[in-house]
Amino acid sequence: MSRKGILVVVSGFSGVGKGTLMKRLTEKYSQYALSVSATTREPRDGEVDGREYFFRSKEEFEKLIREGLLIEHAVFCDNYYGTPREYVEDQMSQGRDVILEIETQGARQVREQYPDALTLFVMPPDAQTLVERLKKRDSETKEGMESRLACAVREADCVDQYDYMIVNDDLEESVDQMHELIVSQHNLVSRNKDFAEQIRSELKVFAKGE
Ligand code: 5GP
Repeated sequence: MSRKGILVVVSGFSGVGKGTLMKRLTEKYSQYALSVSATTREPRDGEVDGREYFFRSKEEFEKLIREGLLIEHAVFCDNYYGTPREYVEDQMSQGRDVILEIETQGARQVREQYPDALTLFVMPPDAQTLVERLKKRDSETKEGMESRLACAVREADCVDQYDYMIVNDDLEESVDQMHELIVSQHNLVSRNKDFAEQIRSELKVFAKGE
């Protein structure tokens, strides 16, 4: 049975803990390939070019768009963010499940190009928890935080377009839920039509006694 990689889109409000979730998911389950996005935003303390993001100037980013090197891109809180195409397609063709941690406009573009992508939205246990988490991020200015909350209000309207919701209360539980959803996606009959066809024709041969 050949295994084709699944494209998994993970969205969720700023501060909901997606970064930590992704880090833990890829530590615990080494089979996943996490795409590294390009962005024009400034690196936060501790972020490394090529690890958290490819940090690019506005001009460099616009060149990536013009040359068709991004699967999707969006402006979020006044900065560009986008997914480099090559890594994603290489990994999927090698059978690896690829995770894109992206916001909702990008998720819409991905859904159009890859209709069988699995889309997950990470929710906070309640709104207050999200605000507290954003306040704790010392790299955020007051304006930065307000603009991220305003984006959250807009993104909350897009939740209905996702396949599943993960409530990020307990990290390990959320990571395991995410893994189980991805694994079960591989077992969808619609993803395994060739295999079903192969079994059908093999059975026919046996039934004829050949
Ligand atoms: P942050 O600046 O907090 O790292 O990310 C801000 C938002 O941009 C988050 O919602 C994150 O998921 C999203 N994001 C990160 N990379 C990409 C990308 O390649 N494309 C899109 N559309 N959004 C992204």
